[in-house]
Amino acid sequence: MSALLDIAGLSVSYGHVSALQDLSLSVGEGEIVALLGANGAGKTSLLGAVAGVVRPRRGRVTFAGTDITAAPVPARLARGLVLVPEGRRILVSLTIEENLLVGAHLRRDPEGVRRDLSGIYERFPNLARRRHMAASCLSGGEQQMLAIGRAMVARPRLLMLDEPSLGLSPLFIGHLFELIRELNRDGLTILLVEQNTGQALAAAHRAAVLELGRIVMAGAPAAVASDPRLAEAYLGRAAEAAPLH
Ligand code: ATP
Repeated sequence: MSALLDIAGLSVSYGHVSALQDLSLSVGEGEIVALLGANGAGKTSLLGAVAGVVRPRRGRVTFAGTDITAAPVPARLARGLVLVPEGRRILVSLTIEENLLVGAHLRRDPEGVRRDLSGIYERFPNLARRRHMAASCLSGGEQQMLAIGRAMVARPRLLMLDEPSLGLSPLFIGHLFELIRELNRDGLTILLVEQNTGQALAAAHRAAVLELGRIVMAGAPAAVASDPRLAEAYLGRAAEAAPLH
């Protein structure tokens, strides 16, 4: 499988705080790769460096054979690197349709955009019914669907999802992961950051576990799921955050 995204020797820091250290990871065309790890492990920084909103101190990011390490955000978007950020960032005072059209701001093919909107409304009847209502009327789960719909309007080649299940009900989490699988079956490559390790490992083709800015383990989901280092990556951090009294 050829690598669509190749991250090599990436280091990111914020002042004196090191977030990623010499990190290498690749995502093959057609794969779902899950990136797991506790709060503060560096997952968001990694997605930020790939999306172009965080500048790495060292390392290289190659997308579809092109070095994009220094490319501005719009150039990455135009190539099909699309991020659904943590917290979804829906514009609640705009309508559902206006939110979807935010994803189309770089496109110059209104007919194609209209076709894509129809496809999204078919996939998400809840959004279709309320397309002219303010997005504030949506539940958290529906807002997540809207955020993913908005990303789809940008025609991604690689969709990056930052903790999409955060704050959703178990029922909606089930729908969300079904959608992730469906989009992948339709050919979309996905880099998925999740704290919901069970669901993420069940959906992914490969997984990597991040701890303090380094990959401590990577491989097939079944191997990662049964490796004690997965629990350690979470428990180590949790114990640090909440010391015993
Ligand atoms: P979370 O799930 O909480 O978002 P994460 O795994 O995505 O965690 P990052 O958000 O990438 O981790 O954070 C990695 C490290 O960098 C942490 O130590 C964090 O405190 C630090 N960090 C992240 N963003 C900034 C920033 N803007 N300024 C300073 N330090 C930051």
